[in-house]
Amino acid sequence: MTSTLRGVAAAPGVARARIWRLPERGSDSAASGTEVGLSEAAERAATELEALRERLRSGGRGEESEIFGAQAMMAQDPELLDAAQRAIDQGRSANEAIRDAGEDAAATLAALDDELLAARAADVRDVAARIARILRGEQPPSLQQRSIAVALDLPPSITAELDPALLAGVALEAGSRTAHAAILSRALGIPAVVGARGLLDMAKDAQEIAVDGTTGEVFLDPDEDMLVEIERRTAAAGARAAADEALHDRPLQTADGHRVMLAANIGQPEDSKRAIEGGAEGVGLFRTEFMFMGRATAPDEATQTGAYAKVLESFGERPVVIRLIDLGGDKDLPYLPLPHEENPFLGVRALRLADAGHEALLLTQLRAILAAGEHTGRQPWIMAPMVADLSDVYRLHELVAMAAFGRTLGVQPKVGIMVEIPSVALVAELVAPEVAFFSIGTNDLTQYLLAADRTNPGLAERQDPLHPAVLRAIARVVEGGHAAGIPVAVCGEMAGDPAGAMALTGLGVDELSMDAGAFGAVKRALASASLTDLRGAAEQALHAESAKDVRAMFESMLAPEREAVG
Ligand code: PEP
Ligand code: MG
Repeated sequence: MTSTLRGVAAAPGVARARIWRLPERGSDSAASGTEVGLSEAAERAATELEALRERLRSGGRGEESEIFGAQAMMAQDPELLDAAQRAIDQGRSANEAIRDAGEDAAATLAALDDELLAARAADVRDVAARIARILRGEQPPSLQQRSIAVALDLPPSITAELDPALLAGVALEAGSRTAHAAILSRALGIPAVVGARGLLDMAKDAQEIAVDGTTGEVFLDPDEDMLVEIERRTAAAGARAAADEALHDRPLQTADGHRVMLAANIGQPEDSKRAIEGGAEGVGLFRTEFMFMGRATAPDEATQTGAYAKVLESFGERPVVIRLIDLGGDKDLPYLPLPHEENPFLGVRALRLADAGHEALLLTQLRAILAAGEHTGRQPWIMAPMVADLSDVYRLHELVAMAAFGRTLGVQPKVGIMVEIPSVALVAELVAPEVAFFSIGTNDLTQYLLAADRTNPGLAERQDPLHPAVLRAIARVVEGGHAAGIPVAVCGEMAGDPAGAMALTGLGVDELSMDAGAFGAVKRALASASLTDLRGAAEQALHAESAKDVRAMFESMLAPEREAVG
């Protein structure tokens, strides 16, 4: 009989295959007796990780590739290796010594009770396990046949290393939508369900598994009826993918031809290619902080100028929105120690760093953006995250003026803000005349409005931006922005969600910015309805009782895939 389990839908698609379990930790007895020393094993581990980084980067997955850049650095971390060497000197086997050192480092990080550091703890453990595996003379885990990986958690380095032609899906007992394994599965287009509590126990004796990464369901040893249902879902998912592809050359527009600008979210200059090939009309969000991660020091002005110029050049006449580094919250840097925060998402992050001793970091970035504009003759759009009110806007303009001091700018930058703190949404009409554009960050706006931590999988159902309260805030921002004659975009995950994109279009948003992988599904969603219908539904949504009701309403408007193509 089929056993069914529900977890968090982490990467869309349906797959059914044999179960592949992550091999248990290797023991000394498993060692083949190769004569690799600790430092050589660490070096080889770093080389393997660098190769993984390069593979992802050259495949246009710059943002995700940085996970491995950071891990390659960890593999060479003197503290980790010294601790292991001391244990070896005291007579422990190298295999055990490095793993213990990894465990100790991970435990120290995990004890800090911080979501981001906890994620880094998993990364250190993963790096130590890789060095230990090399010391034992073993090959990396690999798949022999088409399989679905089942594990407590799957280190991203293993997800990326498994043959994508054989890895049909991922099912994890731990993890959240923002966990590295989930991000990577989405980037690789592998259906994934994470946070499925009780999975390992239930899968103990199972042979086969099916995952529906769109609904978050997991089916163990599916019976005849379930196999028919899975076939149906697989065919529907395939038809959706084909329909999305067929819309490639069409602009983003409603059934009656109302155009919405389609922009891409990128994390590295290398992501531009995939975005342009997908049909991006510009960059709506360049998350520059990813360029600052996985390195020993901040990139200097010249390096940053080169990176921004590359993106400006790639997009030519099309607008490119470069966001000032959004550090703090769930992202920080080893070389920029920020004080411990009880509530990091409410702490000193992003623009607030300017008043906490890190003004120079922001000024260097601003100078690099202005220089990139001059070198390319293109107008950069500068965007500040975490703006709370007018005083933050004035501070932003002051910083831009300081960076421009002494330069004769051939092209003036456009200066705009992210609307992601509820306070600025509430005073949108006061702020709009002072900026060139708004871009709504629905990820943070939702977590702040609904007081639901975006990194907490237990609150996943409370984080739906289709909540009427979030929609009312967005409607207010659109109204305030349009009254001042500035464009209003959305660059949070909501823009790439078909139901979210429909609601936003109905609310009058001018631009939707998302990962290029979502372009097809969003085009299909907008092609399902006329602007009048979407406006009517959005109006109704503002007065709905729950996000669930709103989602059901927009999903019922989604045309079956074959009708949207025409
Ligand atoms: C957002 O908050 O919606 C956003 C786009 O920014 P980030 O996800 O980087 O915080
Ligand atoms: Mg944000």
